[in-house]
Amino acid sequence: LNRQLAALPTTIFTVMSELARQHGAINLGQGFPDTEGPHDIVQAAADALLDQRNQYAPLTGLPELRAAVAHSNARFQRIEVDPDSEVVVTSGATEALAASLMALIEPGDEVVLIEPLYDTYLPMVRQLGGVPRIVRLEDPEWTLPRQALAEAFSARTKAILLNTPMNPTGKVFSCDELTFIAGLLKQHDAYAICDEVYEHLTFDVPHLSLMALPDMRERCLRIGSAGKSFSLTGWKVGYVTAPAPLAAVVAKAHQNLVFATPPNLQRAVAYGLNKDERYFTELSADLAHKRDLLSAGLRGVGLDVLPCQGSYFVMADITPLANGLDDMAFARLLTEQAGVTTIPASAFYEPANGAPPSHLLRFAFCKQESVLREAVSRIEAWH
Ligand code: GLN
Repeated sequence: LNRQLAALPTTIFTVMSELARQHGAINLGQGFPDTEGPHDIVQAAADALLDQRNQYAPLTGLPELRAAVAHSNARFQRIEVDPDSEVVVTSGATEALAASLMALIEPGDEVVLIEPLYDTYLPMVRQLGGVPRIVRLEDPEWTLPRQALAEAFSARTKAILLNTPMNPTGKVFSCDELTFIAGLLKQHDAYAICDEVYEHLTFDVPHLSLMALPDMRERCLRIGSAGKSFSLTGWKVGYVTAPAPLAAVVAKAHQNLVFATPPNLQRAVAYGLNKDERYFTELSADLAHKRDLLSAGLRGVGLDVLPCQGSYFVMADITPLANGLDDMAFARLLTEQAGVTTIPASAFYEPANGAPPSHLLRFAFCKQESVLREAVSRIEAWH
């Protein structure tokens, strides 16, 4: 057995979803919408199935989806992309992350990561023999400690893995922060894997891709996910945009991991990416409203809600209600007694990098308004 993998705990998302199921709790843990994505996109996938789109797709993706990804790079970030040589379609952003890391990392290479971390980053880096250098954001404002970030870079740095808009904090990195990171990449001749699955889910500020900054075009692998952009998380269709020499190596990784992604879903995602401005504006406006609704409700029951500018998630400080319990214990109680499931934020930290905060829970607000209201009233009735 591979000891590293065998020792890896089951992901917190599965653990908490199972707990929610056992207790019949409202699941504000794992981030998935509780309504279907746009009917016309689902219809496009169904039509494609009946239109003989059932054999292997081309290795790097259907030409129409690669063209749509290239077009959407130009449209939303002003990044000009050659659809034939600079886009690789993957089975979800998860595979895109794995393939991008495989394309870059050799044993001993250092990878800079920003904590709190999405759960797959650290195990993936370690599995490849990469050496993580973790920099912790400072709560409650999720400030980037620039000095510590600069010190995490060295001659051995191969890449930074940057997630903006960020899961689990809801932070959207500013142009100034991205410019600072770009400076470090140039100084240390390093790459960036840009996990931008929440690119269309920002609320008060626009999303800016690191890849759109001067001199960053050749250093970035930019990752998107249809799951998030079209509220169809089960589809697992992702895409990587990268300079041609890098995209070619990502394609080699993809060839051995999955080889090709379901063609009917690819065709439907191509259709979705070409939707007009209004679709994307309404998507973020709807989520902004849900963030506000849940945040106000949580404040109303006495929790401190941290700033959130994007993603599906908002963090709340449980200190006023927790009676000294840590996040994991409180999250269990909240599921078992109040009937509301969340994710304890300590799961997004590496304990070897210092004691994780134990006072934060992550709440997913990508749910129907009635569900969010019911969750808040359950907490209110319980505490
Ligand atoms: N990205 C989702 C979340 O953060 C979960 C995805 C998963 O369960 N692997 O909740």
